[in-house]
Amino acid sequence: MSNCLFCKIANHEIDAKVVYEDDLVMAFEDINPQTPVHTLVIPKQHYDHIGDDVPEELLGHIFTTAAKVAQIKGVDTSGYRLVTNIGEDGRQTVIHLHIHVVGGARLPIRMGPAD
Ligand code: 5GP
Ligand code: ZN
Repeated sequence: MSNCLFCKIANHEIDAKVVYEDDLVMAFEDINPQTPVHTLVIPKQHYDHIGDDVPEELLGHIFTTAAKVAQIKGVDTSGYRLVTNIGEDGRQTVIHLHIHVVGGARLPIRMGPAD
């Protein structure tokens, strides 16, 4: 997509601090980190979000890459969270599929059933 920020990052038209890259995906540091580790994983090809008919093989690769990023960032044993915001209620702000890899501190809100 010509006017998409993350497509431009994937094409190296806009600079980002790249953590990992291959033919299909890119991982780069979030410009406004919410946690000590806050890296985004995107497919290089444009999909709006995870429900946008993304090929399963690519989805698998995106998640494998997220786990690899956790390793690169040194949070694979301490723990981390993967988040993907979708649409209006999900408060997605950049409409190009991305997975947030967040960690490096104990996260403030526990997802799932109450403790
Ligand atoms: P969303 O709210 O769509 O789930 O997440 C979008 C994320 O992209 C936000 O965490 C925001 O800080 C990040 N972001 C927005 N613009 C840029 C940018 O130009 N460069 C980088 N590296 N991250 C960005
Ligand atoms: Zn895009």
